[in-house]
Amino acid sequence: MTFDELGLNRPLLRAVRDAGYEEPTPIQRAAIEPALAGRDVLGCAQTGTGKTAAFGLPLLQRLDAQAGDETTLRALVLTPTRELAAQIGDSLRVYGKHLEIWHTVIFGGVNDKPQIKELDRGIDALIATPGRLLDLMGRGHVDLSDISIFVLDEADRMLDMGFLPDVKRVIAKLPKKRQTLFFSATMPPPIKELADGLLHDPVHVAVDPVSSAAERVSQRVYFVDKADKRRLLVRLLEKDELRHTLVFTRTKHGANRVVQHLGKAGIESAAIHGNKSQGARTRALDGFRSGSLNVLVATDLAARGIDVENISHVINFDLPNVPETYVHRIGRTARAGASGIALSFCEAEERPYLADIERLIGEHLERVDEHPYPASEPPPRATDLTPRKGGGGSGGAPRPGGGSRRGRGGRGGGGGRRRNSGRR
Ligand code: AMP
Repeated sequence: MTFDELGLNRPLLRAVRDAGYEEPTPIQRAAIEPALAGRDVLGCAQTGTGKTAAFGLPLLQRLDAQAGDETTLRALVLTPTRELAAQIGDSLRVYGKHLEIWHTVIFGGVNDKPQIKELDRGIDALIATPGRLLDLMGRGHVDLSDISIFVLDEADRMLDMGFLPDVKRVIAKLPKKRQTLFFSATMPPPIKELADGLLHDPVHVAVDPVSSAAERVSQRVYFVDKADKRRLLVRLLEKDELRHTLVFTRTKHGANRVVQHLGKAGIESAAIHGNKSQGARTRALDGFRSGSLNVLVATDLAARGIDVENISHVINFDLPNVPETYVHRIGRTARAGASGIALSFCEAEERPYLADIERLIGEHLERVDEHPYPASEPPPRATDLTPRKGGGGSGGAPRPGGGSRRGRGGRGGGGGRRRNSGRR
């Protein structure tokens, strides 16, 4: 199937072609047509499946079809982290580059003045994290009363991060008559309940079950003593093929310690985690993305949604105690169908975690027996893989077309900035 068969308009098809997408991913094949037709969608998919275009293309097309001369805030995308919000904003700019649909991104942890300025100029679509959105709604900068398309992204992660009450407060302010596109990698009971309450006769779209990211990644495990993990990491990173490596630690302190240790061994790296300023996180990510920095050390929350192409290796310095987190981590190295390599360090205390992970993905990780720091306790025997019931995996102000700033209509009359008369 090609993008041409999905009912997308020409400016969007051109943008998709410009982005180098040759064919739609499974979630795009399943979600775009019903979303274009105005249906609600319940999508079970994690980041990396192409879900941003799955909701972003129909959202842009529908906004474009109903666009008046002035902007009115008609679409809201709610997402849990600032990185995801920024990436969705970037993607909408790419997809909407031949349309004149204005959007902006708001998230916490940074000065709100530029965000307020953009909002006050008038936009058609807003991408937001819940806390900052509520803050700016409370101060009169955001009015949700004309929202006709609502996207809830990574709903399960909202739950994990304790944002569900905030999400519900936002939802309470949305018009009842609207289209809702709901995405979640897993469906724990509070999320199922939320979806049931929000969606009307939704199209169910489930792609990329938890194991499929895992299938594309070559996965190996090193049994190693806790005290030797850092030395083993240095030895691995000294190899040339580990060009672009994302290292996961369980804690922020652990991430800092790894960066320090690598520095002493002459390997440059940077950490991203919740205690780092937004500036430091952005610098680290930009360095990693551009290739000037080969090693990024991250905690799970900070890494959530990092969209960096060409990550050659993921190293699990610590194994996560939630097996779905493992799948989400290794998915960083297999974006949109690419393959990658995931190396996991397993100390004695983490062996039960390994067993859980192998059971969830339904296969044993390949064991690397020959390495310089073998565990003092002999590696455990491979455990039974009888599947258990498991959930799914993880999982600036962009301006369309980079166009020049135009005079604004002002917000007083309900309208936003004026569009060019010659749209498209
Ligand atoms: P997402 O799951 O939306 O975060 O997308 C993951 C990555 O896949 C992003 O880098 C997208 O640019 C890319 N992508 C999305 N759709 C396609 C497609 N149809 N073909 C190739 N790459 C895509």
